[in-house]
Amino acid sequence: MSRISIADLGDLKGGENITISGWAQEIKILKSVTFIILRDSTGVCQVTIKGEPNLIEKASTLTRESVIMITGTFKKDGISKSAPEIACTGLTLLNPAGTPLPLGITDPVEADFETRFNNRILDLRKPKNNIIFRAKSSILWGIRKLMTDEGFVEVQTPKIVSSATEGGAEVFRVKYHEKDAFLNQSPQLYKEMLISAGIPKVFEVGPAFRAEEHNTNRHLNEFTSIDIEMAFSNDDDAMQMLELCVYQGITELMDKMGKELETLGYKIVVPKKPFPRMEYTEGIKILEENNVKFNFGDDFSSEHLKIIGSKMDGFYFITGWPEQVRPFYTMQRDDDQRFTKSFDLQYKELEITSGAQRVHDPNVLIKRLKEKGLNPENFEYYVSAFRYGMPPHAGWGLGLERLTQIALNIHNIREVTLFPRDRTRVTP
Ligand code: ATP
Repeated sequence: MSRISIADLGDLKGGENITISGWAQEIKILKSVTFIILRDSTGVCQVTIKGEPNLIEKASTLTRESVIMITGTFKKDGISKSAPEIACTGLTLLNPAGTPLPLGITDPVEADFETRFNNRILDLRKPKNNIIFRAKSSILWGIRKLMTDEGFVEVQTPKIVSSATEGGAEVFRVKYHEKDAFLNQSPQLYKEMLISAGIPKVFEVGPAFRAEEHNTNRHLNEFTSIDIEMAFSNDDDAMQMLELCVYQGITELMDKMGKELETLGYKIVVPKKPFPRMEYTEGIKILEENNVKFNFGDDFSSEHLKIIGSKMDGFYFITGWPEQVRPFYTMQRDDDQRFTKSFDLQYKELEITSGAQRVHDPNVLIKRLKEKGLNPENFEYYVSAFRYGMPPHAGWGLGLERLTQIALNIHNIREVTLFPRDRTRVTP
């Protein structure tokens, strides 16, 4: 007798004795037969109990979502058309579920957002929600594989830091023994330092913290940042690597889960490479053509990006951002210092990555820090890494949640986050 998953039933001939465990999704007691719809992470099956008073008695006391173990015989041509069937010979209650359930797993009417996220573990049992996290993992696996094949070293940098990466107010302060410290907004400064440490290609997948107070469908206070940094590279090299990463992540998803996702209503589209590129100034032109007033040097708002994005199909880069809207470590263009060697990757109005070639001259770095109103002393640990031979380098930071949103066409970023952290939510 072997313990198997529901998906494995498809490989059986019929007549085998099996043991299978999962959640009792539904229990139906009829006159001549009792049915249990059993669910595991791979699907549902129908357990049939006939003429076994002991088993019927046990089944009748089961509550929905209790964890049970069934032994029985697999029936290839059972009565159920929609789910594989098992003729039950044994039922063990492994752990009962309390009643009432705060949230029904199969209820046709969706619970409201607060109820769902207050009871997230039940919400995640719904196949349509559960699959999102296998999909996210699959995208990440595609990217990890690519990065490793390309010779990148996966690193882990500190998340408790002494200075805010980007400056500004959007940083969480934490008590660190007798000092104050911050939760890192991005691994930017550390991954650059590793370039000087002789690791020419680094990548990191880790949490990034932003204390921004937005309540939008694309912002979290804690998100997963995929970051890379490459030595002896420029902004164009970084863009090509980014294109490949997005392509590989979505291709992996399509190959491994495309069909399964489709049965749950998700349609995956693998993007075509290369992604089109547009200069910041071309974006301004599009706005002007649409009678929107815009000042050179401002950042595009989401309303602006809606207009610009409506002209573009799928992923596209915006390049050549003015230095005012980019962080101090961004390299300026040689021919016109008003512009930087930077880019954002967009999907319609949603920004999913920003990147650039970085400054590698420590004197320029200090000048830029001052120009941005930051105190170079607070960044000395970082600037010192530039004093003893820092190669030219470039890189980017990509939000895994935003990429997952796009791949699955999901409107709200919280849906692709197991336990989202936002302005009002810090539990569960
Ligand atoms: P936005 O303008 O959308 O707030 P940003 O310019 O602050 O984003 P960056 O600091 O450039 O973003 O971060 C790089 C990437 O990290 C973004 O393109 C996005 O994918 C992701 N990201 C940044 N902030 C958040 C956030 N609050 N929630 C989720 N993802 C984020």
